[in-house]
Amino acid sequence: MRRVMLALVSILLMAGTAARHPGLHAQRAEPTIQYRLSFPEPQHRWMQVEVLFQGLAPDTLELRMSRASPGRYSLHDFAKNVYDVHAFAADGRELATTRPDPYGWNVSGHGGRATMKYKVYGDRVDGTYLAIDTTHAHINMPAAIMWARGLDDRPISIEFVPPPGKEYNSRRDVPWHVMSQLEPSRNAPSNTVLGYAAPNLQYLMDSPVEFGDTAVRSFNVDHTTFRFVFHGEATSAELESLVADVEKVVRQEGAVFGEYPKYEPGYYTFLADYVPWAQGDGMEHRNSTVMTGTTTIAGDRISILDTVAHEFFHCWNVERIRPKGLEPFDFERANLSGELWLAEGFTQYYGPLMLQRAGLVDVGATAETMTGFVEAVSGPAHLVRSAEEMSRMAAFIDGGRTEDKTNWSITTTSYYSFGGAIALALDLTLRDRTDSRVSLDDYMRAMWRTYGKPGGSREGYVDHPYTMMDAESTLAAVSGDQAFARDFFKRFIQGHEIPDYARLIARAGFVLRKRNPGGAWLGDLRLTARNGVRVAGLIAPTWPVYRSGLEQDDVVQKIDGRPISNESDVSSVLRHHKPGDSVSIEFTDRTGRATTATVGLIEDPHIDIVPTESVDSSLTDAQQAFRRQWLGAR
Ligand SMILES: [Zn+2]
Repeated sequence: MRRVMLALVSILLMAGTAARHPGLHAQRAEPTIQYRLSFPEPQHRWMQVEVLFQGLAPDTLELRMSRASPGRYSLHDFAKNVYDVHAFAADGRELATTRPDPYGWNVSGHGGRATMKYKVYGDRVDGTYLAIDTTHAHINMPAAIMWARGLDDRPISIEFVPPPGKEYNSRRDVPWHVMSQLEPSRNAPSNTVLGYAAPNLQYLMDSPVEFGDTAVRSFNVDHTTFRFVFHGEATSAELESLVADVEKVVRQEGAVFGEYPKYEPGYYTFLADYVPWAQGDGMEHRNSTVMTGTTTIAGDRISILDTVAHEFFHCWNVERIRPKGLEPFDFERANLSGELWLAEGFTQYYGPLMLQRAGLVDVGATAETMTGFVEAVSGPAHLVRSAEEMSRMAAFIDGGRTEDKTNWSITTTSYYSFGGAIALALDLTLRDRTDSRVSLDDYMRAMWRTYGKPGGSREGYVDHPYTMMDAESTLAAVSGDQAFARDFFKRFIQGHEIPDYARLIARAGFVLRKRNPGGAWLGDLRLTARNGVRVAGLIAPTWPVYRSGLEQDDVVQKIDGRPISNESDVSSVLRHHKPGDSVSIEFTDRTGRATTATVGLIEDPHIDIVPTESVDSSLTDAQQAFRRQWLGAR
């Protein structure tokens, strides 16, 4: 396949956007913080950073590398890849630095002006880290930028110096250019340095940059410009057909809210980085998103569109309709929010729904998505952690690492699927109560009008973030029923109940049925061969086999008197039984103690959701109408 060459449209698009917020800039008298990022040896995956701080108070300058990154909820300690750190005074004299903790450098005696120089290594293409190679610099700012405490609101300039041969006017090679939500600086760019500006630290940190040889396509909807930046292997035709589908998603999501946010640079940018050495990821920002993965457009366009649909929905939900716990973003510690079931979970629900409304997937795919949500929320974890409590686990489970063992496999459900299941129940409940006159779209629009649209008095901030109470009052207002709203939050978000999905989806012509009807079940026992046949996962308290005392790493010898050597042996034993039967189990624990116990079998609880018409009967007129209102194009 042919590599897509860079489109000049990007440069045209940016012309004239530079001096957009004169009011915001004019009030500031504080000197600009100046960054310069250069890439002398991209093949070795490091970049050189220089940053100039001026007009400093005489106290110690406290420089920090972030421990967290906007959109990620766990800690990452970006200081670990920083090295060759030096500080200089105005006269060029090197200043001593001290280390107050592992994440910072202190500089005293700077005389009001200090320049920091350091290198930072990065080789991970995703939404959180830094990646540098001969094809691009993929920059997530918190992974790259050293900043100073107390200077958060100073304006910032940031310059990008391409590797040798990749200059703006290069005749040798395809030049690198900067794609991001940063605004081009008002100073005329030179041929070798590309200048951009940010109003403050929060905005800079939220502005990922793709610096390289990228292809750009753009389109307009409702007088708003959307840019799709692609780095990867694709033909022009593949890219254009993908972007045509991106536009369909953008239109459907705009219809949910009735309008697009006012994107500060004047446009929204998708930064798509699909190279064989990438990690699969998507990360939302105020006016852009980073999407990464190893797939190609030809290989799996739906997975790319699925990421588009999720991340773009975030430009309302999270970036502007923002939980109070995430505002402002704290770069030194993990933010805590009990509302991620709404911030992430409702976004996880709307992503696939928007693909359906855009006509990019069929009802079978929507049924599979619903199956995933309902299966996730029906597992053992919901009994011990509510959706609110699950949201508060984000700092540990969102890309966080643990050395010790946890029992999360049976005590946590991701707030993505848990929240997706809540959104599904709430959308269908609202429709069910009102004959489709009120839906979750109305709820999202109400949240947008109250908490998102008013925006922020400072760029990059949200002035009216919401609390759990606000989310509940908005439901009371939209449904016109305060008791209903309280009951729904109490039972399904702060409590441990599961909505009646079978009844709710039946109204739209879907059937919830047992995956293995009449099948005997003792739990989702996983086995592995390692010094005997061992239990490979934790045993949940809701499984019949739990009470036998069997646990992870125990060696299973026999079930129902038959020797067991793998999982299919267990299945063949169960096939000879029905729910209500009992079987014996023989196993040895880690101390060598042998146990024989009896397990009472129950019916396999796993379910599938399928469109009614795929089972037997056709849809009634009422089901057809309900489904069209819910899943039909806007
Ligand atoms: Zn998300």
